[in-house]
Amino acid sequence: MTTPANRVESTLLRRINERRLLEVIQSHGPSSRAMLTRASGLTAPTVSKAVDSLLRRGLIEELEPREQALGRPGKLVRMATQSGAVVGVVIDTQTCCTAAAGLDGTVTEEQTRRFATPDDYATLIDMVERDCRALMADVSGKLHGVGVSVPGLINDRLGEIVFSPNLHLLDKRNPAHDLGQRLGVPCLLIQESDGLCLSERLYGDARGIDDFAVLDASFGLGLAVMSGGHLLTGHSGMAGEIGHITVAPDGLRCGCGNRGCLETLATDAALLRMLADKLGRRLDIMAASALLAERAADFQHEIRSVTEYLAIAIAAVINIFNPTTLFVHGTLLAAEPDRFARVLERVKQRTLTASLADCTIVATRSSKRQGAIAGIMHHLTNAWAPTVR
Ligand SMILES: [Zn+2]
Repeated sequence: MTTPANRVESTLLRRINERRLLEVIQSHGPSSRAMLTRASGLTAPTVSKAVDSLLRRGLIEELEPREQALGRPGKLVRMATQSGAVVGVVIDTQTCCTAAAGLDGTVTEEQTRRFATPDDYATLIDMVERDCRALMADVSGKLHGVGVSVPGLINDRLGEIVFSPNLHLLDKRNPAHDLGQRLGVPCLLIQESDGLCLSERLYGDARGIDDFAVLDASFGLGLAVMSGGHLLTGHSGMAGEIGHITVAPDGLRCGCGNRGCLETLATDAALLRMLADKLGRRLDIMAASALLAERAADFQHEIRSVTEYLAIAIAAVINIFNPTTLFVHGTLLAAEPDRFARVLERVKQRTLTASLADCTIVATRSSKRQGAIAGIMHHLTNAWAPTVR
């Protein structure tokens, strides 16, 4: 006899199987039912039922026959690109961007819009809404959700950004909530470092890795840690604020109000500030990048100083979290191979030898734009069913 209790149980089991298949399709790309059966360990009838259900809900789609290689057995399914979409919004200190993508997470410049970050919150939300609507008008299929990547401390229990040291217009705000009310679509707030971490796991080089970390040394100094396959959150979701460790007790005032925080010394922003002081004029990241490409010898002192503190930050992450891989995000040091090699030389002087031997350190190719997309996709997958490990 079917009781309400075992109906709930069978619904849950069905959804867990569907989630398992979604994850396999996300990591393997286009797959036949036979391939899914092999990769998931589920039975062929279970795979067939789950695929039908995911197709009906628009989360996956069958490839057009002309897109399939000849001789492949069975029709292939992939994450929906025509019948479903998500939008990623990046709110950042200098520039904001909005991008639409299929559920496979592929973002293109054609589906990306950008604007300079305005000075007030109301204008910011107006501009994000405008760009979201423009992108939504071009999206074919169902819009499943919007991921909103933000800098600063998100308190999950309060459901807001409690404090954003480098973008105070976000203090005590929840742009995802405000945007969701205007657009009528589920919108999710994502801490930008967590987004980068999820992006590495879903689309980057951390596929299949359970213990890794992402250190963002661009404007602020952010950290996200995947430990045992779970994002480290702490009690309220605010863990990972490595940037506000004091390293120079009488140093410069940080955006957080304290003095001498690591992020005032170890980031692209720190190097930008030092270059500007020396030149007597402000410059943006692209100008700084071009300047260092041409005249690095004139700024050896500044480069060496930031190299030293970035190495200290990297060493701290490795010593404390013992990741198998550490991805470093940044433009002026991390993305330039010779300068990054010098950072890694300094890391050797600062890290416990045994911990360093366990860890590979690489510059990440992930972007915050991809992070916002990864954040909403991770949420949609999680909301579908719990994972079974
Ligand atoms: Zn600080």
